[in-house]
Amino acid sequence: MEEAEVVVIGGGIIGSAIGFQLAVRDFGRVVIVERGAGPGEGSTGASSSIVRTLYSRPETVRMALHGQAAYRNWAEFTGIEQPRSRFHSVGMLWMMGYGNAEASTARDRLIDQGGRAEVLDAAGVHTLFPALSTCAEPFDLSGRIPHTCRPLEAALFEPDAGFADPTGANQDLIEAARREGAEVLFRAEVEAVRKEGNRVTGVDLADGRTIRAPLIVNAGGPWCNRLNDMAGARLGWTINPTRVQVGYRLRPAEVPEPIPVVADATTGIYFRPEASGQQILFGSVLAEDESEQVDPDHYKTGADAAFLDSKIHALHHRLPDLPYRGTLTGIAGLYSINEEDVHPILGPTAVEGWWVANGFSGHGFKLAPMVGSMMARAITGVTRPFDTDVPISFFGVDRTPLTVHEKNVLA
Ligand SMILES: Cc1cc2nc3c(=O)[nH]c(=O)nc-3n(C[C@H](O)[C@H](O)[C@H](O)COP(=O)(O)OP(=O)(O)OC[C@H]3O[C@@H](n4cnc5c(N)ncnc54)[C@H](O)[C@@H]3O)c2cc1C
Repeated sequence: MEEAEVVVIGGGIIGSAIGFQLAVRDFGRVVIVERGAGPGEGSTGASSSIVRTLYSRPETVRMALHGQAAYRNWAEFTGIEQPRSRFHSVGMLWMMGYGNAEASTARDRLIDQGGRAEVLDAAGVHTLFPALSTCAEPFDLSGRIPHTCRPLEAALFEPDAGFADPTGANQDLIEAARREGAEVLFRAEVEAVRKEGNRVTGVDLADGRTIRAPLIVNAGGPWCNRLNDMAGARLGWTINPTRVQVGYRLRPAEVPEPIPVVADATTGIYFRPEASGQQILFGSVLAEDESEQVDPDHYKTGADAAFLDSKIHALHHRLPDLPYRGTLTGIAGLYSINEEDVHPILGPTAVEGWWVANGFSGHGFKLAPMVGSMMARAITGVTRPFDTDVPISFFGVDRTPLTVHEKNVLA
């Protein structure tokens, strides 16, 4: 029987961030157990990996800003000279149908927390991003209702936002965790959680091994409910594994660069460049596209034709030079949606030694570096460079659900 100080269940972006931060704080023997053959097999591998900071709650804005600083300085954060993941600092444009006052309020929320943001009018958007239509008129995706474009009043620009490489970042954190002494076991599925009374004492793996540990972290992503059941932990939150789709379209030279990350409430999509600008990746910002609850072991991993058809119309509206030729492909991955307030649930539970990092609701990639440091600081008491000052209790298991502007990925 093996012994460890802590077992982290799940080697996605969250589990690897926690494992790395525990190991770098010298917390004894840290073991990450991942049932997949490598990193990126869960939500993380399908992630659009957008790293932006506009949230309803100032604390989440600040945590996202600190996560962004980690991704923007990834070599220093991970201690890897040539990391696999690179930050693409393309900026993010929020085309939310804002009036000037609303856009200024959103800008001030970011600036108050130490971020950079500016309000642009239609001419300002056109100067920075000539490929984008600046129309603010709501759009009928079926094309049946005639549409006359009218320019937007105000958009919000986050110049420091961008995106990274999700599986590369996950691999980097695994490498950094190993370098700091953590053990990372792939093809290692937890089948049972051992307990004595109300205290966890270890995990049983599917291959017959047992690892004894007084502290176990559930970083199981969309499988988190099963793990909480194994530990007998009732969090009192509803977390649903939810199928979410993304499409890809080639970007021919007719569509001029630069293209930022765009959130487009007029048509309900988001998009960003992909594959060194050769493609456009697009998805939905609508709550109705985050409602398909599934079994995380059995769901359709390709995108639906109906989803791609409607979203491509929206993309053509926003990028009018995008030609109608070219292959359209798509995938589906999983969000773990915390139905109460779409924010993560972090920290100790009522079961002694059982900690959770669950319910990321579509925000887990950008928050992961700070989730790792928050959890590790709470466990070890050690503070490190890059740590966020947002208290873990803000996301605590026993909190009252937070009030947010929208109960979807924009939260
Ligand atoms: C289409 C899509 C787009 C997204 N876009 C963004 C975005 O732009 N920005 C952003 O911030 N976030 C985004 N997200 C969300 C983000 O990707 C997730 O919040 C994040 O990846 C969650 O990481 P995780 O480590 O919790 O989960 P996962 O990556 O799913 O990792 C959990 C791991 O636990 C393992 N596991 C489960 N059960 C067991 C067991 N019994 N034993 C051992 N291992 C086990 C699984 O195999 C899995 O690898 C997106 C997600 C999707 C699907």
